[in-house]
Amino acid sequence: MHIFEKLAEYRYEQVVFCHDEATGLRAIIAIHDTTLGPALGGCRMWPYRSEDEAVTDALRLARGMTYKAAASGLNLGGGKSVVIGDPHKDKSEALFRSLGRYIETLGGRYIVAEDVGISTGDIHHIQVETSYVVGADVSYGGSGDPSPFTALGVVQGMRACVEEVFGTASLEDRTVAVQGLGHVGYHLCRLLHDEGARLIVTDLEAAAVQRVVREFGAKAVEPDEILAMPCDVLAPCALGAVINDETLPRLRCRIVAGSANNVLDETRHGEALAERGILYAPDYVINAGGLINVADELEGYNERRATKRVMRIADSVRRIIAISKRDGVPTNVAADTLALERIAAISSMERLHTGHPYGQLSRRRETL
Ligand code: NAD
Repeated sequence: MHIFEKLAEYRYEQVVFCHDEATGLRAIIAIHDTTLGPALGGCRMWPYRSEDEAVTDALRLARGMTYKAAASGLNLGGGKSVVIGDPHKDKSEALFRSLGRYIETLGGRYIVAEDVGISTGDIHHIQVETSYVVGADVSYGGSGDPSPFTALGVVQGMRACVEEVFGTASLEDRTVAVQGLGHVGYHLCRLLHDEGARLIVTDLEAAAVQRVVREFGAKAVEPDEILAMPCDVLAPCALGAVINDETLPRLRCRIVAGSANNVLDETRHGEALAERGILYAPDYVINAGGLINVADELEGYNERRATKRVMRIADSVRRIIAISKRDGVPTNVAADTLALERIAAISSMERLHTGHPYGQLSRRRETL
């Protein structure tokens, strides 16, 4: 791999290779852009087939976090860490403490959280060695499960889309088809039910379906039927790449707005949705509620403040729709524009010397 070419392509700032023979740690910390603030992003543990694959994943995910934080109005940059290994076999206390020490050496340029293959227990080991951690369990001073906040953000984004398409932001009597009733999907159904929406749902787990049918009067369909159900909003809350060449012709919704990451199989599918007259709420904007909530820990966690910030996802989606119209581009492209415009605006500020060169950093550190 020509690593510097890769870094130059999207202007990555820094990549740190962490190696600890004794604990078996082989990890990569990728920092994409810290114009807006320290790079925050989860740690993923995965049995990558090659080092190239691990580096590529870390870089891709770190860049995604830059866009997500910027479009969500957070004063954070984008970063991500990956640990090479099998999360079922290769974990140990020493390995995660070793990673924690590496994170500490970055002095706050990178703040870690949980991601695929990492448990709250692993986070607690990291936390022994560094304070640059968010998303710990409530009992360890963290903000706990982000899923209810992610679901709340999805509802706000959905509201903005419904307003655009139907002229009113009310979700009452709107039909929403929810694919996946796990952590986010369940809370999403609860909130939509409270708003008077009609629910069509599916999951691979029968118990998850039965619970939502029982509690919220949802109509259950088979997993292979959900995408073709006539509805106002399709909410993918399970897998990525659900909007692809095969599924597109079958869609019978007016809006796609859910929590799943990487909803579009390829970028061009955003354009294809727009051509079919379907409004797409870009995934990394509408599902940012969990990130917004966890980021609040950096200022001393306050649930009310975090909730208010999550509610602003509706404004972000409205702004994206406006950019989409202004530039004549699909909403997935407009989301990137929103993020890049914010980074450009902040980096173009006059560089006035404020007299406290280390003030910002020490203030942040105090709250960690
Ligand atoms: P989860 O694992 O708790 O739930 C996913 C659910 O989808 C499971 O119940 C699973 O059985 C179901 N499922 C899987 N394949 C399916 C299929 N083909 N058809 C129907 N159901 C299927 O995950 P989650 O935390 O609820 O996250 C859901 C999605 O939202 C994921 O894509 C995740 O990356 C994304 N996301 C989650 C959060 C969060 O706060 N949890 C934040 C941002 C993005």
